[in-house]
Amino acid sequence: MSKTVFELADSVMYVKGVGPTRAEALEKLNIVTKRDLLTHYPRTYEDHRHITKIANVQVGEQAIVVGRLSNIQFRDIRRGLSMITATLSDETGSLPVVWFNQEYLRKKLHEGARLVIIGKTNPRALFPEMSQITSFSILSEGEKVQLGIEPVYPATARLNQNFFRTAIRNLLDAMPPVEENLPRALVRKLNLLSRDAAIRAIHFPASIEELRAARRRLAFDELFTIQCGLMLIKRRVQEEQLGIKCKKNGALVKELLASLPFSLTKDQQKVFSEVARDMESSMPMRRLIQGDVGSGKTAVAMLALVKAVENGWQGAFMAPTEILAGQHYETFTKFLSGLGIRVGLLSAKATRTKKMREEIYRQISAQELDIVIGTHALIQEGVQFAKLGLIIADEQHRFGVSQRARLGQKSSAVPDMLVMTATPIPRTMTLTVYGDLEVSLIKEMPPGRQPVETKVKNIRSRKKVYEFVREEILKGRQAYVVCPLIEHSESEKLSHVDSAEETYERLSEGIFSDIPCALIHGRMRSDEVMEKFRAGEIKLLVATTVIEVGVDVPNATVMVIENAERFGLSQLHQLRGRVGRCAEKSYCFLISDSKASIAQARLDLMESTNDGFVLAEEDLKLRGPGQFFGESQHGLPDLKVANVFRDVETLQEARTAAEEFVASGLDLEDFRANLIAVYGENFSQISQA
Ligand code: ADP
Ligand code: MG
Repeated sequence: MSKTVFELADSVMYVKGVGPTRAEALEKLNIVTKRDLLTHYPRTYEDHRHITKIANVQVGEQAIVVGRLSNIQFRDIRRGLSMITATLSDETGSLPVVWFNQEYLRKKLHEGARLVIIGKTNPRALFPEMSQITSFSILSEGEKVQLGIEPVYPATARLNQNFFRTAIRNLLDAMPPVEENLPRALVRKLNLLSRDAAIRAIHFPASIEELRAARRRLAFDELFTIQCGLMLIKRRVQEEQLGIKCKKNGALVKELLASLPFSLTKDQQKVFSEVARDMESSMPMRRLIQGDVGSGKTAVAMLALVKAVENGWQGAFMAPTEILAGQHYETFTKFLSGLGIRVGLLSAKATRTKKMREEIYRQISAQELDIVIGTHALIQEGVQFAKLGLIIADEQHRFGVSQRARLGQKSSAVPDMLVMTATPIPRTMTLTVYGDLEVSLIKEMPPGRQPVETKVKNIRSRKKVYEFVREEILKGRQAYVVCPLIEHSESEKLSHVDSAEETYERLSEGIFSDIPCALIHGRMRSDEVMEKFRAGEIKLLVATTVIEVGVDVPNATVMVIENAERFGLSQLHQLRGRVGRCAEKSYCFLISDSKASIAQARLDLMESTNDGFVLAEEDLKLRGPGQFFGESQHGLPDLKVANVFRDVETLQEARTAAEEFVASGLDLEDFRANLIAVYGENFSQISQA
């Protein structure tokens, strides 16, 4: 006789209570195997541990009642609306119950049946009436009511709560104990639930404490896995690959330092020396520089690039947009051409025709260019550097873990890499999304900067704000007006939101009709406009968030942000960073007519703090990491249980444990296979790349 072997990889169809038809419906929820169903974790839980006696049921409240059914009546009110009314009684009293449009119950309900009903009583009725039934079950004679903390699953109309609860219950009953996938010593040391207990308890916890322990264990699993992956990447970079090895700072670096119109701040010096040390070691540099807008990251980047060049390497600088690439190109040329360094720009313009493209590719591969600036097209197919030694990514959240892991697979020496960001990333995020990088911080601002004065204004004060902007412009300053939209699409007629195009028309034909204005947004060629704005020929720039990152026009000292409530706090902070770049006082006006108190509170926070970290934390709390980084651009496996804000402690534990685990080298191969089994291709890409 052959025994049936239970396999989590088997089709979900074979779970008792599922079958082929429901399996098909489950597939739409990406639930294909038994394992998928097992990890279809509850969205939340309902506390069903307390039965209310019918006499104690209140109007408009949630309750669980148990009793016998009588007076069952079926009524067709009209087409598409039917109703079942009945009375539920226990030893304390009776309660009217109502079901709407539940045709199939005709056959099921009968006089005298014992039911447990979970639901809410009608809030508008005078007396308690159970009219919003969330779930109920018919009890067989003598059956005890099963009370507990009930899971609430992400469900659909066809696959309801009852279905999931039953199917998962059946799956758990049929399933042999889940194997432990963590080292036993670790489980003991951190006092974690076993994997088996955790998986069972996350579905059907016996108590709140058990639920908490189950969540912690499963969150730990996820975070530990990620951390191990990151450690593996880090170790591979450090041990198995040779990076470039630069000499101590030489003549070119010194010349550049001498020719800068300022001396570096202490933080800039410290960060550059960290970078230089990495570059001088044969281990490939993997470093993140965090510094608020305007803290002077570009100067550090330029120094690092020059250091690579003086050691005979080429450098690549990736900017997030074409506008910025162009702007950096100009800055770099200004400072570096005097040093005999050849800087190139790989832009859409420079590669317009096939011939032009081939020419710049040729220059790169012949090392006729020392430093190439462009968007992320720079590291794409077709661009072959002769001697790429350093890659710098500026404001590139897209340049995620897996891209970093893939770096250097093409060439013999692995290029050094530096990621720069002005988006203040809370430490918890740094540990995950950038967990394979060392971190340098620039906290100090260059001298002479005044904090930008920020004011929240409603639409009624808008005219006054514009008048103020006019005055500043007449004093010789420049200004931005930022709008959330380019134009109104037919589908999205947001009458209360002004598009950039409308605003531009309104302003350039109205209050600013005698002042040179221009419009710039992501769907137009903007280099020329930007050029004129920088040169001071254009005084007022109406823009979308294309100006969010890095545009540097020190003479611009006023910014007006329309419909400010539609932006994230970090984004507002980034935008605000476009002003306050010179010794003159700068202003930022946040225009909003939102009555929502949350929106108001958020904007008030902008008024009261200039600390990007505070704002970012707030943003993350409100919007979650997905929003913050753009969905799954970071290349990490999705988190089902863990939440990097709530589970900060678990994250720290996982980080430390992963460090020790990977350093010990114990069972790593076995464990890696385990991780890949759980996290699939996405993870194997990271850990094996
Ligand atoms: P970030 O890229 O960090 O936002 P930038 O590198 O663009 O900042 O620097 C912002 C401005 O500050 C630039 O105009 C730059 O020339 C200037 N700057 C950078 N470092 C210093 C410094 N140490 N002292 C004075 N000005 C500086
Ligand atoms: Mg910058």
